[in-house]
Formats: sequence, structure tokens, C-alpha cells
Amino acid sequence: MAESEFLTVNEALQIILSGANILSPEVVPLMEGLNRIVATPILAREDLPPFANSAMDGYAVRADDVSTASGQEPVPLKVIGDIAAGFVSEAMVVSGTATRITTGAPLPWGADSVIPVEDTSETWRDTRRPLPEQIQIMRAVDKGSYVRWPGEDVKSGYLVVAAGQLLRPQEIGLLASLGYAEVEVIRQPRVGILATGDELIPIEAPLVPGKIRNSNGYTQAAQTIASHAIPVQLGVAGDTTQEVRERLAEGLALGVDLFVSSAGVSVGAYDIVKKVLEEDGEVNFWRVRMRPGKPLTYGRYQSTPYLGLPGNPVSAMVSFERFARPAILKMAGWPNTERPTILVRLNEEINSDGRESYIRAVVSRDSSGYWAETTGGQGSHMMTSLVKANALLIIPEGVRSVAPGVELTAMMLDWPGTVF
Ligand code: AMP
Ligand code: MG
Repeated sequence: MAESEFLTVNEALQIILSGANILSPEVVPLMEGLNRIVATPILAREDLPPFANSAMDGYAVRADDVSTASGQEPVPLKVIGDIAAGFVSEAMVVSGTATRITTGAPLPWGADSVIPVEDTSETWRDTRRPLPEQIQIMRAVDKGSYVRWPGEDVKSGYLVVAAGQLLRPQEIGLLASLGYAEVEVIRQPRVGILATGDELIPIEAPLVPGKIRNSNGYTQAAQTIASHAIPVQLGVAGDTTQEVRERLAEGLALGVDLFVSSAGVSVGAYDIVKKVLEEDGEVNFWRVRMRPGKPLTYGRYQSTPYLGLPGNPVSAMVSFERFARPAILKMAGWPNTERPTILVRLNEEINSDGRESYIRAVVSRDSSGYWAETTGGQGSHMMTSLVKANALLIIPEGVRSVAPGVELTAMMLDWPGTVF
């Protein structure tokens, strides 16, 4: 098969995404909803704030009483009570009176406004100080000032979080304030991770000639967790179809939603993965016009989606980023499955072989915009160039050379605070 007949990155991605179905919802404790997608709309069952309360430390008053108050001509009010947050006062603020009040304390009956302590004769507040008998008010306020009214933030019955919305810390906080101890969210995908190859040994084992440590299993588990999904480690299979089958059968028993394997997909690597899928499931495609990451196998093992990544650690990680992460996010219900991209320029010329290329780079910003620098050796076994990178620069299909200063799209892997 000629290379021109392989799928483009986008064609491959669309096929993978179309096979990644959104998972079922489940009810979980609120905190477990973080970074997950809400399955059914959440409506407020009560007002927020639930009662009228003070926005400041100060004095609860009737605005009409202090309409002439100023620094030169303060208005005296009789202090009839002291209300701390957490307590309800019986005090009735009638004309000519006020209560001391702290931020968050319920507004007493009769009061309609709060005067901040700074605008009274008591210039600092110390709750250990005895309550003054009288207070001088040194400014006028509009009725309702410094009061947080019930339902001002959320009205009972209103939509708080829509279905399909991501729960970030702020949504978690809002739901907590409305008394939601549980939320219904889309289930987290379980990703079965399998490493294949006779050369692989566990990372705890002493290194012996000819063997290497199974690093891919760790990279992919970490990428799975970083995609807010659950890694299910299926260990290492040697280069036989039987061993691969045994590990995959275990994955099915463990209820995985997506298989991700590494190696055993390149020409000459015995094509173990492709063979197993052909016999026990289906192969959809097995080559992509991409660099790194050409040998990508996609299909199903029995009826479970299967992504066979290349073995080279960089190719495996980049392919996971480009294909597995979007599939995982789609299964988890995320509306947008793509990394953020920005336009950057390079100081150097970079080359490609015409396949859509993903170049490891570090993006930074100066007064003239975003600049990228490649991170050195781009061999697909060079993990350090990924360690230094915060972005993958995309050289489009068909482009063989990019001159210095030409804008390229950078797919941001992270956004380091030291740089931005
Ligand atoms: P293959 O796709 O089997 O031809 O493997 C390509 C390269 O990736 C070889 O150099 C393998 O030794 C290496 N490799 C395969 N699997 C892993 C793994 N799990 N961890 C680290 N390197 C691997
Ligand atoms: Mg191999």
C-alpha cells in the first residue's frame, strides 16, 4: 500500500472519535465529580444567598434615618444589638436605632441597609470591645446598600449547571453551597494499558543485556490519569498472539472501555497486534500519514475500541496525545476534546518529510509574541526532548520546510507559569 493511501491525521482522528461513544452516567459524591461532565441538568432547590445578610462589618440601619449623614454632620443612632455571622437576632431596628453586624450575619428586622464600620465613629472593629450605646453614622447610603439579598446569586428553580458542562472547582463550590452532596456525571473511561515486546522487563528488575524497562506502560497510565480517566494496567505481553490475547481477555474481564497498547504494530515487529485484532475483532486502519507515529493500528478487540500505538516512547506518547486523549475525553462526555492551540514563530528553519509532523518544542512569549524553539534530538526514542517540551508544533501535511519567522500552530501540552 502506497503511503499516499494511508489516512491523514484528521481522517484517522474522525474514525477514532466516531467509535468512541459517550459512557453511561453515575451518581458520585460531589468531590468525585471534579473534572467530569454533568449528565443531567442541575437546578437550584433553594435561593442563594438563602437569607438577606450583611456584605460588610458595620451597622444595620434604615437608610431613611441617615439620609443627611456626613463627616461634618454625623447622625447618631442608638445601638440595640450585636449580630454575628451564624446567629439570628430578635432585634427590631426601628427609626433611630441600629445593630452592629458582621459580614454574613442575617439582616435584622426593620433594617434595609448596612453602613460599613469605616463610615462610623467606630473606626476599627473588635468584637471583644463592648457594644457602644450610640454610634455616629458619617455617610448616607441608598436603600439596600451592602446587603446581599436572597436569591441574588441563584434563584430557586434556576439552572445551575447544564448537562454536558465540566465540573471545575468553582462549579463544585457552587453545588456545595446549594447542598448537593452528590452529582450525576458521566462515568470515567477505564483504559486498559498493555505493553508488548519480548525485550520488556518491569522497572523494578535489574537491567540485563538486551532488555529495556517498560516505560510506555507508565507514560500511558500517566496520560490516562491526566485525561481524567482510570488506567487499568494489563502488564506486559511477550511477542506472541497468545500472550496478547490473554492480557486482552483480562482487560475485558476488568471492564475496560478502551484498549491502548504499545508496540507490535510496525512492519517487521511480527504485527502481533494487527493479527490478534483481525482474528478476534476488526482492524479499521493501521497506518497514518503522521510523524512520529505512522504505525497506528485502530480497530476493536471483540467489541471494545482498540488503539495500537507504536512502540517508540516518543511516538507512543505523541500518538496518545493526538488520538487516545480525544477518544477518552469524548467517552467521558467532554464537548471539546482538543488541546488548546496558539500560533507561534520559530527562529530556525525546520523540515519535514511531507507527513503531518509533530515537533517537540518549548513555547515562550516575549513582547513580540509567542516564540518556539525545538527541544533538540527529534528521534522517536528521545524522551528528553519531550521532557523539555511544553508544545508540539504541527507542520501541515505536504509542507517540507518551514522558514524562520513563519507562523505555525502549536498544540500546547501545558502552559507553564514561569513562561506565561
Ligand atoms: P516495535 O513497535 O515493537 O518495533 O518497538 C519499537 C521500539 O519501541 C523498540 O525499540 C522497542 O524496544 C521500543 N519499545 C516497545 N515497547 C516499549 C515499552 N513498553 N517501553 C519502552 N520502549 C518500548
Ligand atoms: Mg517489538
